[in-house]
Amino acid sequence: MSNPLSYVGSEDSSPWHTYLSQVDRVLPYLGNLARWAETLKRPKRALIVDVPIEMDDGSVRHFEGFRVQHNLSRGPGKGGVRYHPDVTLEEVMALSAWMTIKCAGVGLPYGGAKGGIRVDPKTLSHKELERMTRRYTSEIGIIIGPQRDIPAPDVNTNGQIMAWMMDTYSMNTGSTATGVVTGKPIHLGGSLGRVKATGRGVFVTGREAARRIGLKLDGARVAVQGFGNVGSAAAELFVGAGAKIVAVQDHTGTLVNKNGFDMQGLMATVRRDGGVGNFKEAERVDNESFWDVDCDILIPAALEGQIDTARANRLKAKLVLEGANGPTLPDADDVMRERGILVVPDVICNAGGVTVSYFEWVQDFSSFFWTEDEINVRLDKIMVDALKHIWDTADKHKITLRTATFAVACERILIAREERGLYP
Ligand code: GLU
Repeated sequence: MSNPLSYVGSEDSSPWHTYLSQVDRVLPYLGNLARWAETLKRPKRALIVDVPIEMDDGSVRHFEGFRVQHNLSRGPGKGGVRYHPDVTLEEVMALSAWMTIKCAGVGLPYGGAKGGIRVDPKTLSHKELERMTRRYTSEIGIIIGPQRDIPAPDVNTNGQIMAWMMDTYSMNTGSTATGVVTGKPIHLGGSLGRVKATGRGVFVTGREAARRIGLKLDGARVAVQGFGNVGSAAAELFVGAGAKIVAVQDHTGTLVNKNGFDMQGLMATVRRDGGVGNFKEAERVDNESFWDVDCDILIPAALEGQIDTARANRLKAKLVLEGANGPTLPDADDVMRERGILVVPDVICNAGGVTVSYFEWVQDFSSFFWTEDEINVRLDKIMVDALKHIWDTADKHKITLRTATFAVACERILIAREERGLYP
């Protein structure tokens, strides 16, 4: 039996507890490997750093920074860095654990890691953002590196922040190390297709799932929560396949348009204002009504813990595509299963981002860059093959796609654990 970690709180709805109950659900399917399962219930390494910076007005502010390496059995750590005022150690632990599962589930040669700073980056100037990023990178520099742990963008971080991280790490180590982060700008060793890769993966897994349950994309009604990098790219691809976006929600509001949004107009508003709120050709509704919208496909692409049992009971969608990490609470998973709503879980649905991160890392090592077409074709194949394997596992054991993804991933992780053995 596992002892709760002394540094973890007891809040049942926290992302880490959500992750732990997802692990518990897979234990019956792990056979003898279950003896190693405790490995999955504690992070290998967690670093808390103080990030002090001088503000533009001459004052000094301190931020909490984290980098957690959940598991390194299958390769170096991999996972994004999030800038958000609600970031906590426990949240970063959960996000790092989901990276472990995600990388193993699609067969990438990585462990799982994640980082974050507890900050609202919108309150910082460009220079303050740069100083904070550089100081954070220096502080976590003792555990990251191209063969050790490779950060990438996540919520509120982007190519510019990756460029500063790469430069800072390179300055500290004395040579340009493009492979230390992924999601970089193209001329700094970034990969074509990376920015839209997570959204593309959501689309590819959604397309396959829709085909299997007989849901036609042409004319399908899609609701998207979160219209950042992931939600907007997925929405564009669904519209390209004939679907219409009937509802969008982000931190600036909730909009509904039964006839389908004009995507170009909506994207222009988001580029201009940083949110959907001011888009005119739609009806503005209160935020909670988003969960009642008549739709076929729901894409939560914002933050964790969005779908609880009450919302799961109200959803109209037949298919839920988890673009975000951890959007569904475990009890809500049960409700959706009972209601016949198919959930393509985060750990496979949003794995397109880290898959193209892997392509970027490989391209950096070989200094040989692929075309966007090559990247998209390879991404499509990896996602389709991974989902097929997961689907077969779900059918075999009569379990959800989430538990099946955990089964496939945990088996790979724990076999590696067993074969490597305990040291000393
Ligand atoms: N932050 C993304 C995720 O949650 C991408 C991570 C990466 O590319 O390493 O999957």
